[in-house]
Amino acid sequence: MEILKRLKEIIPPKVIKKVEFEGSEIIIYTDNQEFFQNYEETIMNAVSTLKKRIEVRATKDLLLDEEETKKKIKEIVDEDAGIKDIYFEKERSIVVIVAQKPGKVVGRKGEIFKKIKKETFWTPRIERLPSLESDIVLGIRKFLRKEIKFRKDFLNKVGKSIFSERKAERFWIRLIGLGGWREVGRSSILLETPKSKILIDAGISVGANNSNMFPIVNTKEFDYNEIDAVVISHAHLDHCGFLPVLYEYGYDGPWYATPPTIDLATLLWLDFIDVMQKSGNKPLFTAKGVKKAIKHSIAIDYKEVSDIAPDVRLTFFNAGHILGSALIHLHIGDGMHNILYALDQKYDKTNLLNPAHTKFKRVETLIIESTYGSKQDVMPPRPKVEEEFMNIINKTMERNGIVLIPSFSVERAQEVIAILLKNEFPYPIYIDGMIWDANGIFSAYPEYFNREMQERIYQGEDIFAHPSLKRIASKSDREKAWEDRPSIIISTSGMLIGGPVIEHLKKLAEDERNSLIFVGYQGEGTLGRRIQKGLREVPMKDEDSGKTYTLQIKMEVHTVDGLSAHSDRNQLLRYISRLTPRPQRVIVVHGEASKAIEFARTVKRILKIDAIAPMNLEAIRLR
Ligand SMILES: [Zn+2]
Ligand SMILES: [Zn+2]
Repeated sequence: MEILKRLKEIIPPKVIKKVEFEGSEIIIYTDNQEFFQNYEETIMNAVSTLKKRIEVRATKDLLLDEEETKKKIKEIVDEDAGIKDIYFEKERSIVVIVAQKPGKVVGRKGEIFKKIKKETFWTPRIERLPSLESDIVLGIRKFLRKEIKFRKDFLNKVGKSIFSERKAERFWIRLIGLGGWREVGRSSILLETPKSKILIDAGISVGANNSNMFPIVNTKEFDYNEIDAVVISHAHLDHCGFLPVLYEYGYDGPWYATPPTIDLATLLWLDFIDVMQKSGNKPLFTAKGVKKAIKHSIAIDYKEVSDIAPDVRLTFFNAGHILGSALIHLHIGDGMHNILYALDQKYDKTNLLNPAHTKFKRVETLIIESTYGSKQDVMPPRPKVEEEFMNIINKTMERNGIVLIPSFSVERAQEVIAILLKNEFPYPIYIDGMIWDANGIFSAYPEYFNREMQERIYQGEDIFAHPSLKRIASKSDREKAWEDRPSIIISTSGMLIGGPVIEHLKKLAEDERNSLIFVGYQGEGTLGRRIQKGLREVPMKDEDSGKTYTLQIKMEVHTVDGLSAHSDRNQLLRYISRLTPRPQRVIVVHGEASKAIEFARTVKRILKIDAIAPMNLEAIRLR
């Protein structure tokens, strides 16, 4: 392999016992004690010459005894790091240190980390213990630990494929829309480069009927056996809901996402299976597909450059949309072309996140959403929106009512909680559905929040552990919440297509004192959209008798639009105009047909950049 030849020109072959890959990272195992303790300069040189990530690990015979190592680590690391667990991955010479404050295990400029490595010969990995216990976070970590042998082989196989000397099969670069072009839902794009095929997002259309829920994969160009990698922007099902299906079909390659995205996606997949089962529909995928997906996941942080195929290099950047959401930057060939996939995104600061990233080395093609891309889609300024939201809530509280907020379990719910707590809301906030579990995942990744929120958390002011938040975990909890007036209930699902929110709606709808507040996008065909548009008589099924009846919606119905985690039209235009460098072409997707078309026209007219709004199955040649 070319890469190994070049590596051995920089690093003396006699110190290299074995070379393995972990995805795009090159792992050098050495049994040379002196080299292991003094390799820094050599490796820095190799990294800058080869432009690859390289890690040096000791072979088994150098490793200090496990008990000794534990003792040593506890000697080296300050007690207030809060070490909760230390375990070993012998196969990879790695010691995993689980701590409440990972920063204290790393030390300034990584000095503590380096000391542990030099003195024990184990390579430390540091995991944060979530401040709110999270079954999902801990479950995934445990599962991956159990699958360590599989993971090692899998990651090595992925690396070999990335660094293989594959010949160019094509002389073009093109994008083919498999879903999400002139629609919201089932986002998925096939990228063909001279040497690789990459799938960008693999979503489903939640709320659509069965025949067009999935991306259009029965095309000649799409064969999952030929896919090098799937790259997932964020955990919403319209971007990743198809992934477990793909693994159940038989795909066995990697998918890349940020660590919070992997956890949140798992939560949403499991929730979705649950909702489908309860609604009597055959689930689109099962826990088997979810497990297989987790086994094949590769986590990448923001700004970490990774090769993912012979001629494609991936970097994630903050998208400002939901926790861990990423703009996907793909560098193709050696400077041949650069794509920025910028959906879903928010170009405004929210209570939790920073605005989407705008500075890049190169961007020729920008792919952007148009969810709120039409003229009417201009949201009032954020402070106004929050004021309006609090007004509706305060009025409902004054008349001793209950506010029901249907919400996605991820982001919107946490943003609503942040607004309520910022305004020192004095009444109980009940949390139903998977929102509580999502809160647990949020509390595991403080480094993904904006600075203000990070500082509050580091000072011990974790909003997700606030005493006003009360968990609904059972039917009797639910009944208690209905008795507790005034109060707020935040519950899934966000578009009223299932989940506990339906129970709350049945109970609360016919009381005029109550309010229903939509705080998120309501998909075409969902019950949420129909009530939002004026439906006041809803056919319902009585759980006990099985009879259908008509539910009268007498509670106030409000929509608070500006809380969206998406950019509105002005934010989208501002994002494109501030993007450096200026892209040569804009491809507008992720919007209802009329909005996508109108927004593309607007980009052309106002920003004078070539812009199109293609349909699904159209192919756009970039080179
Ligand atoms: Zn989204
Ligand atoms: Zn989306």
